Amino acid sequence: MRRFTIETRGDDYSRRLQEEISDRLCGLDFVCDPDSPELVITIGGDGTFLRAIHRQFSRLNEVAFVGIHTGTLGFFTDYSKDDLEEFYRDVSTKEAQIQKVPLMKITTYNGTKLNDYFAVNEMRVENVKQTQLIDVRIDNEFFETFRGTGMCVSSQAGSTAYNRSAGGAILHEGLDFLQLTEITGIHHQAYRSLGSPLIIKKDGVIRLESHDFEKAILCYDHLYTEMIGVKAIECRACTKSIRFAHYKKIPYLQRLKSLF
Ligand code: NAP
Repeated sequence: MRRFTIETRGDDYSRRLQEEISDRLCGLDFVCDPDSPELVITIGGDGTFLRAIHRQFSRLNEVAFVGIHTGTLGFFTDYSKDDLEEFYRDVSTKEAQIQKVPLMKITTYNGTKLNDYFAVNEMRVENVKQTQLIDVRIDNEFFETFRGTGMCVSSQAGSTAYNRSAGGAILHEGLDFLQLTEITGIHHQAYRSLGSPLIIKKDGVIRLESHDFEKAILCYDHLYTEMIGVKAIECRACTKSIRFAHYKKIPYLQRLKSLF
């Protein structure tokens, strides 16, 4: 993979690193090609990596991603800003191991299908204006009626992100399941829902229905859309995947330990 581009968090420090890394790679026979890169290098954090994936969405089969973190280790990033010499050596001398990570597909309906969205981490339905009612169906079977701020459906990769803040479980690397987590659910004598995270098999479908999603927003990774006219949302793992370029193996628990 010799054609590369660099995506940064956009701050002065990561832009300076971008110039330094670009110059160095060009001196190692790499070619900077922002239009059709084979390797996308991100400089920033997991958030920067997420944004780079969405920007390359139409070319996901053709690009692989490798991240340099400007802070701690990260879940998507394999190098830190202090490992640059190792990074240059690895990308110029080693064959990358490609890890495919499936995306989650989110489909909205209003009787008929409205739109598809794709997420790496999660999708959330959130309503901070009023109590949101959501009927939850799993694999087309009615499960519960939820009342509260909203619900989050996350992937394995997203289990350490918003899901973790919402009290969800962290899924170890390789456990490709979907996880449904409540966002401040109401639980008292009149209303009750499961109240704990629910993990379902990867070919399962989680369907969230409501007669009124008008004041809610649908968030997917760092992106969001209004829900005007939406009556149902389905989440499932999909066949599209992201290609991570790994030049070294970092144990999952090492990444996890660097988080807290
Ligand atoms: P952002 O500023 O890009 O990211 C918010 C934080 O989430 C950052 O610290 C980021 O790490 C971290 N993060 C992103 N993906 C992660 C992952 N897979 N595992 C562990 N940490 C992860 O925020 P944004 O633009 O609003 O949304 C991007 C993502 O951030 C969302 O998909 C959501 O999961 C997460 N988020 C979390 C919360 C929360 O926990 N309460 C709130 C909003 C958003 P870096 O510092 O390394 O970039």
